[in-house]
Amino acid sequence: MIFGNYINGEWITSGAQFENRNPANTADLVGTFVKGTARDMAAATSAAAAALPAWSATSGPARGNILFKTAEILDRNFDAVAAEMTREEGKTLPEAKGEVRRSINIFRYFAGEGARMPGMLVPSERDRVHMFALRKPIGVVGLITPWNFPSAIPAWKLAPALICGNTVVLKPASASPLSAWRIVEALHMAGVPKGVVNFVAGSGGELGQALVEAPGLKAVSFTGSCDVGNWLHAEASKRRLRIQLEMGGKNPTIVLADADFTSAVENTVNAAFFSTGQKCTATSRAVVEDAIYDKFVTAVVERTRKLKVGDGMQAGIDIGPCVDEGQMNTVLQYIEVGRKECGEPLCGGRRLSEGAHAKGWFVEPTVFAGVSEEHTIAREEIFGPVLAIMRARDFEDAMRIANAIPFGLSSSIQTTNLSRAFEYIYRAEAGLLTVNLPSAGVEYQLPFGGTKESSFGPKEQGPAAFEFYSDYKTVYLKY
Ligand code: NAP
Repeated sequence: MIFGNYINGEWITSGAQFENRNPANTADLVGTFVKGTARDMAAATSAAAAALPAWSATSGPARGNILFKTAEILDRNFDAVAAEMTREEGKTLPEAKGEVRRSINIFRYFAGEGARMPGMLVPSERDRVHMFALRKPIGVVGLITPWNFPSAIPAWKLAPALICGNTVVLKPASASPLSAWRIVEALHMAGVPKGVVNFVAGSGGELGQALVEAPGLKAVSFTGSCDVGNWLHAEASKRRLRIQLEMGGKNPTIVLADADFTSAVENTVNAAFFSTGQKCTATSRAVVEDAIYDKFVTAVVERTRKLKVGDGMQAGIDIGPCVDEGQMNTVLQYIEVGRKECGEPLCGGRRLSEGAHAKGWFVEPTVFAGVSEEHTIAREEIFGPVLAIMRARDFEDAMRIANAIPFGLSSSIQTTNLSRAFEYIYRAEAGLLTVNLPSAGVEYQLPFGGTKESSFGPKEQGPAAFEFYSDYKTVYLKY
């Protein structure tokens, strides 16, 4: 099937195309997408600008009804949508189901916010003056999303943008556009007015440039790599666009000697390898207190060896493939750098390309131990199934190592010591913290986002999402 772009309420199926293939089996063509052009992006942004007055004047509850219907449609097609995600991105079917469920929940959460839309009402210092601040939309918003959460990230940008009364142009990642397409299809079926939602797939470089140059654009919300995010930031600044960036990480899990050992091992392995390590919140550094270091390394390696790598559609598979050949090669290159700098990994370290793995981009889950702060694999984001284990003298040393990086997305500690847990909560330099849980695995009801070089601008999700997608209009009224 050809999946067209969606511009001004029409599906545009003509033009150059690109293929979306299953990374677990490249013989499986998931879909053919229309490769949008700069002209399509210009048409999409002007359709969004034309639709803005009517959509922003639609009541919050009425906008919410369309989001509720969108959630219902996704729910009706839940199994099919999740299976498509596994085929296009490679994550296991249970992981894909979890993600689709999260997208549905996000739509329902923000649909409900349409009937609340909190503003401000405060007493005036003056007699008979009534003062309040209303929320109003910011206008046409560009949404650019990465391939690793191909449904949840589009959902957590689309739903708050729309409930606040903005109109949008969504540019999904080329490696996994179908999950986002399914959300746009559901919005269309739910009756979203023409021009309110537009979808243009295609090359990020070409479409990104056309998006930031579009005359009606007011804001960009981007999730992806630091390089692209930093470029967008510069472009947005030139044009005074509001911008929100969620980018890379190098997330630590601190493991203290007093931790519940079994769950610390499980949490670390889960956070490092599930979704093939392709989560922005994945653990890529385990910082382990000296007293349990050797025992912890042995247990992590033993547990990692038991992980089953394969096609995520099959039951019993823990780890799917890398999303594409380029990402797999990046991971393999980092493993080679790790070999040179830190020695042979204690497990994994190779591409899997025989038998059931012959048609996909599979890499063994890989554990390096004895990694130091100056090593490349302790500093740079790999975005694959590679864990670096680092030794810390004590809690203070572990805190120092965990924080001594330019990134600040997520961070985790495994400890049964309450005062250390709180000490960590106050001093950890990251936007998302977990205690005695994997570093990855967040929900939608609280603010999401990082600090330092990982992020820029207001947070996403939960009530915090309103700060980016709406503005205040402040009113003083004498009666
Ligand atoms: P990416 O290469 O930066 O791509 C992200 C999106 O930007 C894609 O839609 C891409 O389109 C588009 N793009 C590429 N060049 C562009 C340009 N010049 N202007 C505008 N858009 C452009 O990132 P990715 O490889 O998809 O995702 C992996 C990265 O995302 C990792 O660094 C990961 O940490 C980060 N991430 C962060 C979070 C978070 O919340 N902090 C969440 C998930 C992922 P094409 O696909 O067509 O190139």
